[in-house]
Amino acid sequence: MRASTSSPSSRCRRATPLIGLDRVITTPHLGAKRVEADYDVVVCGGGAAGVAAAIGAAKAGAKVCLVEKYGFLGGAVTTSQVYAYCGLYQQGREPVKAVGGVGEEVVTELRAHGLDGEAFRSETTGNWIVLLDGEVLKFALDNLVRRHGIDVKLHTRVAAVARTADRLEAVTLAGMGGRTRVVAEAFVDASGDANLAMLAGIPFRTGDADGKLQALTMPIRVGGIAPDLEIDRKALQAAIARYNLVGDHPIQRTDGGIIIRLPLSHDMWWMTVDVALADLTSESFTAAEMEARARANSYVAMLRREMPGFERAYLVATGPQIGVRETRHPAARYEMTGEDVVTGRLRDDGIARAAWPIELHGEAGKPSYTSIGGAGYCHVPYDSIRAKGLDNLWYGGRVIGADPNAYGSIRVMGTAFATGQAAGVAAADHVDADHRNSVASVRARLIAQNALI
Ligand SMILES: Cc1cc2nc3c(=O)[nH]c(=O)nc-3n(C[C@H](O)[C@H](O)[C@H](O)COP(=O)(O)OP(=O)(O)OC[C@H]3O[C@@H](n4cnc5c(N)ncnc54)[C@H](O)[C@@H]3O)c2cc1C
Repeated sequence: MRASTSSPSSRCRRATPLIGLDRVITTPHLGAKRVEADYDVVVCGGGAAGVAAAIGAAKAGAKVCLVEKYGFLGGAVTTSQVYAYCGLYQQGREPVKAVGGVGEEVVTELRAHGLDGEAFRSETTGNWIVLLDGEVLKFALDNLVRRHGIDVKLHTRVAAVARTADRLEAVTLAGMGGRTRVVAEAFVDASGDANLAMLAGIPFRTGDADGKLQALTMPIRVGGIAPDLEIDRKALQAAIARYNLVGDHPIQRTDGGIIIRLPLSHDMWWMTVDVALADLTSESFTAAEMEARARANSYVAMLRREMPGFERAYLVATGPQIGVRETRHPAARYEMTGEDVVTGRLRDDGIARAAWPIELHGEAGKPSYTSIGGAGYCHVPYDSIRAKGLDNLWYGGRVIGADPNAYGSIRVMGTAFATGQAAGVAAADHVDADHRNSVASVRARLIAQNALI
């Protein structure tokens, strides 16, 4: 770890024979280069959880590598136009903070780049959210990770792992330059889809107890409408009812769906393109992407035809990919339950607060919400972010251990910042043999980093 003079990482490294930093090995018969690199902590995935894990670990003194398959950080915000942070505040009349630490730091950075970052009460759900702009977030996160000295690898995928019975030893990164073997003391899976855990052979559940996956949604941005136009929800509902009589792709969200005017662009952010996902095959994702695009184009044409003020409306953008709510749930040492969430269960081994109500999308277009009891938040226990069967792998974000109901709460990005930061700190702490797996030490470091527990 960079912070101390006698490096704990060098004291406790005990895995594969040590290799030098960024040693280039040429494989003569292939004419290709294989680079080997050495870190304290490797984080897979650059969404809310991954960024928070990387920053949390770096602040704890670790040398960190953050790996992201797209060309930018931000996760669902920048990959799927999910333009609101949920879970940063508790439900209620006033916005009470549930997340501090890196989540708060990101919002402060957004403010420095032109977003107001204020808590906004959603008209449809009554929850507090922070509205986003994808380009501002990309740039803000670039600045933050640079400032924290994190080695970021974009356009790079975690593609394979090497492990022993109880430890991950290394990951193979696949990028444009070829394959890189990266050795580390500790790892964080913040991939959303449990890609690292899956590669490591950790068993997983797909979807809910019956294998049913939550619906996909393609959030879209609609432009060409006056910035001050009040969108008339009743008129929209009537337009949807007419469309559903004859339209090619009936709209399940007959209430009009989630509609928000975005900051800066004043585009209409519309979440109403829902598609069921049968399984995780490439065929199902291809069909879903194409079906969602057909729906998006058809719905915007409907707006142009049917809604006053939308005569010049057009589809500004869909995201680089459709929004994916749920895929794999890798085995954790503790699986949070819906009961933990609705009763607002607090625990001595809590490492983060979950404050978003249980939001389920079992049926496309018909979300349901159940509020959190107790103090308005529940604790995420330490064992929910620890992989079952591997001693040096932690989970952050939507891959943490949660049953189908708890998952409806913990998956939001505000909570992902909190669980990601905890995973990064725990991973960094693990590098120090004196602290290994001490919840008290992880909690103390999180509090020192201004996290709310
Ligand atoms: C339609 C929709 C609407 C939603 N609405 C909201 C909302 O309004 N507010 C809210 O807070 N939450 C919302 N959610 C939930 C939320 O977006 C996700 O649960 C959240 O993004 C989880 O954060 P994460 O960091 O765990 O994962 P992600 O944001 O999914 O980030 C994971 C990252 O890992 C990368 N990755 C994956 N595999 C690899 C690999 N092998 N190598 C390298 N990189 C990899 C991905 O490219 C991605 O950038 C919504 C989700 C959907 C789908």
